[in-house]
This record gives sequence, C-alpha cells and structure tokens, in this order.
Amino acid sequence: MNQPLRVRYAPSPTGHLHIGGARTALFDYLLARRHGGAFVVRFEDTDQTRHKESGIEDQLNGLRWLGLEWDESVDIGGPYGPYRQMERLDIYQTYLDQLLQSGHAYHCYCSEADLEQERAEQEASGEMGGYSGKCRHLTPEQIAAHQAEGRKPSTRFRVPADRIIAIEDKVREHVEFESNGIGDFIIARTDGIPTYNFAVIVDDHLMKINLVIRGEEHLSNTPRQILMYEALGLPVPDFAHLALILNPDRKKMSKRDESIIQFIEQYRELGYLPEAVVNFIALLGWSPGGEEEIFTKEELIAQFDLDRVSKSPAVFDMDKLNWMNNAYLKKTPLARVVELCKPHLQKAGYIQSELDEAKEAWVTALVGLNQDRMRYAAEIVELSTIFFKDELVIDEEAAAVLKEEHVPVVLASFLTQVEQAEAFTVEAIPALLKQVQKDTGFKGKQLFMSIRSALTGQVHGPDLNVSLYLLGKEKVASRLRNLL
Ligand code: GLU
Repeated sequence: MNQPLRVRYAPSPTGHLHIGGARTALFDYLLARRHGGAFVVRFEDTDQTRHKESGIEDQLNGLRWLGLEWDESVDIGGPYGPYRQMERLDIYQTYLDQLLQSGHAYHCYCSEADLEQERAEQEASGEMGGYSGKCRHLTPEQIAAHQAEGRKPSTRFRVPADRIIAIEDKVREHVEFESNGIGDFIIARTDGIPTYNFAVIVDDHLMKINLVIRGEEHLSNTPRQILMYEALGLPVPDFAHLALILNPDRKKMSKRDESIIQFIEQYRELGYLPEAVVNFIALLGWSPGGEEEIFTKEELIAQFDLDRVSKSPAVFDMDKLNWMNNAYLKKTPLARVVELCKPHLQKAGYIQSELDEAKEAWVTALVGLNQDRMRYAAEIVELSTIFFKDELVIDEEAAAVLKEEHVPVVLASFLTQVEQAEAFTVEAIPALLKQVQKDTGFKGKQLFMSIRSALTGQVHGPDLNVSLYLLGKEKVASRLRNLL
C-alpha cells in the first residue's frame, strides 16, 4: 500500500510570505487535503545571515490569512519536530558524522582567501568546475598543520565522478544532470551549522516527506540532494519543481519590481479577499482544463492535480487578479465588505473608529453603493471622495450640462425641496425629486442629469438617490446654493 502523502512548505524565514512561496504552500495544501495527507511547515533558518526573527510569524500569518491550515509546524508541534532547523542541530550532527565516517564527506580547511584565489585561477584558465577538491586527500600531517594554525574546517560532500543523476520530476518530467559539473559542496560551515542542501534532506527524510514541491530555482540543488540520499542509503522522495512566475513584461520577477504586488501581507492590507487571492494563485501554473476560472477552495481541493501544472512559466497578471477580486467582492455579503472598507476610511480620516447607528447605516450605504465597482477595499477611499471633500470638482461633461438653460430652474426648485425636507433618507429623496418635476415641468434626463452634475460633478455615477443621501442635506443644500 502507498504511504500517505506528506508534503512540506519549507521557507527560510527572511521576511513576509511572497507570492512564489504562497503558491508552493497552496499546491502542497491542496494535494495534502485532496489525498488525506499531511501538510508540514518547516523553517529553514540555518543561514543566519539572512535570518529575520519576525520571519517565522510573518510567514505563518500569511498562510493563516490565506486559509492554508497546516498539520505540523513550530506553533502546534507534530510527531517529527522540532520544525525549525536551528533547533535540530544535534540531529544533523549524527548524519554528518555518518557521511564523514563512510568517506562521503571530508573536512576542508580552505580559507575564503584560498577559495577566492582558486576561483581566480579557474577563471584565468577558462575552466569552471566548482571546488577543486584540494582538501579531498589531506594527510594526517597536513590536517595537524592546519589545526595548529587554528583553522576550523568546513565539511564538504564528496561528489562522485562520472555519474548521470536522473529525476522523474512530477512537473518537468525527465531531467538529467552530470555529477562532473557539480564540485564538492559545503554541507556544514566552519561553525558546524549545516547548509540548506544538507539539512533539507535530513529533515525531509525524518519528517517522512514523500513529495517535495518547490520552485524551479531549486532544480539545480536536486542532484546534490539525491547524491546525499544515496550516500546515506535513504529513499529519495518524489520531486515537483514549479516553473517561474514572470512579471507582466514576461521578465523574471525581481523583489524590487513595483508593477506587481508580491507579498501576501500587502494584499491583506489593501483589502483583497483571501479566497480570491487563493483562486488567483492556484491558476499561476495550474489550469483545470475548462473555461471556468472561479474556484472555491473546496473545488480546488477536488480538482487540483500536478498533471495539469505547466512546465512553462506563469505570467503574473495584476489586471486578472483585480478582475477576480472584484468578482468575489460582488458576491460577498455587504456586512463583510463594510468591515474590509472601514479601516481604509478611518485611515483617510473619513470616519471615526466608533460609529453610532446612523453613521453605521451611512457607511453601509456608502460601501453598498461602491461594492460592484471596487477592485479591492482600499479603493473605497478614492471612490467616495466626493462625499467627503468640501469643494466639488466638476468635469467637462458635467460643466456642459450645467450651462443648459433649464438648469437654474431645476436646481432652485430642488433647493427649496431640500430645505423644506424633514427626512433626507434614501426612501424620502424620490418624493422630493417628483415634486421638482411637478413644479418645474422638467423630467427624465433634464431633471436627473442636472442634479447629478451639480452635486457630483459628473454626468454618470452610481445610484442618484443613494448618492444624495450620502452627501447629506447640508452638503446638498450648500452645493446648490453655491452654484445658484
Ligand atoms: N528554504 C528553501 C527556500 O526558502 C526551501 C527549498 C526547498 O523547498 O527545498 O527556498
């Protein structure tokens, strides 16, 4: 019988959850849920120069917001912990000793300066082949001399010559590497802390990971890892390397590229819906085959399969994400959209954090008016400026309307109605407009377009009754007075 599927997302905690990492985690999650397997989140923090202490919480928060619940990790533990590499140093030492004893690894006393010189010589002679293997065959005397100088060794893996290493990758299919190009690589630094390539295989083995999903940038690490599995006599897991995500210009995404939003935290801050972001990320490299593009998480779990993950790069399309988020927002209960919008209105100084009943109803109407137009919640600020700013910007089309002959009559009559009105609610406003029609004889476009242009500065816009209510009696009256 097959072993239950065990997959892992193994970030180096260097910062917030990036869109590429989120995709790996999502694919892990979907497969684990689909096959009743386990989704492990492990932190690879042995590169202390890149480590950021908040990185672990930042990564977990990103996953949490996306709704990718894990089965084992640093916070909830699990049967194969600890789930943070710096807490597993003893474990790596055991495997390191094993490799040293069997001769698959050796101590290297080369200093940074030695290695630099070696690289320069290689470059000059045009032969590039990684580390020369200078310390492979040190005599006991040479070792003693190095130690007497106080040199601390790093540990290198002895890469066998003339090997072809083949992978049957679940995405890329058959891939081959030659061992000759690889060069003996460092598996533990001079301070004894293991490097990524070594720690990752020990952990994947002990955590019983049987499918490794990760970005294509790690493909060249895979032959190194396979050689180490073999040297330790351990089974090799399956691999699935995901193609790159390109920016809209079809160039490799750089973290500095501002044409796209790259960190999950930013989506949360801008008021995107996590379910829309999950849907969008699922389609970065995977397609279910049909025309449909909107999928709930449950539908993704039921359909997701590595067979339909593309070998070619995915292009990150911000417009598509915004279209998708808008489609989700339209179908989201208004109360939830209101909650998403509130922090943005507060930040803009438009509303207080505590709202009375009337103001709460007002904010709900404001968000309801814009719900279908918003791409993400932060846009509520821009979409609703006319209700907050005192001065009104009148665009060209509206200015042209306001020059028409009937306009002053209509506006003056409406002003009278507004001043006399007891209630200025969405329900009451239609009756006021009806009265203007009766008193002036103007109706339809001549009536509504004049009032809309005068009060919103635009000829088109969302529901007029609601817009007038949102402006409120005072603003409506003073804008009319100013114009007249
Ligand atoms: N720590 C590695 C990274 O963040 C993980 C690579 C892997 O999944 O093996 O890129």
